[in-house]
Amino acid sequence: MRHWLVLICAVLVTGCGQTDTQETLQDHNHREGSGMVEVEVKTPELTRIEEFHGHIGPYVVLGYKMGLMARDLLDSPGYFDMTVEVESPLTPPPSCLIDGIQLGSGCTTGKRNLTVTKGPIGRATFHTKKGTSVVLCLRPDVPEKVRLWIEEIGVEKSGKRILEASPEEYILLGDE
Ligand SMILES: [Zn+2]
Repeated sequence: MRHWLVLICAVLVTGCGQTDTQETLQDHNHREGSGMVEVEVKTPELTRIEEFHGHIGPYVVLGYKMGLMARDLLDSPGYFDMTVEVESPLTPPPSCLIDGIQLGSGCTTGKRNLTVTKGPIGRATFHTKKGTSVVLCLRPDVPEKVRLWIEEIGVEKSGKRILEASPEEYILLGDE
């Protein structure tokens, strides 16, 4: 019995290994048309963020705003039309930005159109299928501002404050 289990596990592991070798990025958009199909958002922003990320916090909201801003600047519906390379600290709370970018842009780790590398401050480079791109960064004073707000009013209220503000207060156009 134990031998059979070992054999089955070995086959499963080998199977996983085989799929891992096929790492080309597939365009698997099954919706009609192309990547330009709009995805209809049906839930309020605050609910979307909270249900996806588990709480409302400053960095997830900042990332959400970054994703929306990129779609707006590049006139892109996001999701299947875009890829994004995110540079960010890899520990929360700053890394919560990555979840926000996924939600705002529609680019996700599962679709393989979002990659993350370690960096000192939130910075994201967005590319569309049309060949256009934009770099967005957090303003340099954002981490300190966020740290003070969390002390003063707490995590959730800090996130809500950022959600209500204009994205330009916190996000800058960066150099490519
Ligand atoms: Zn968070």
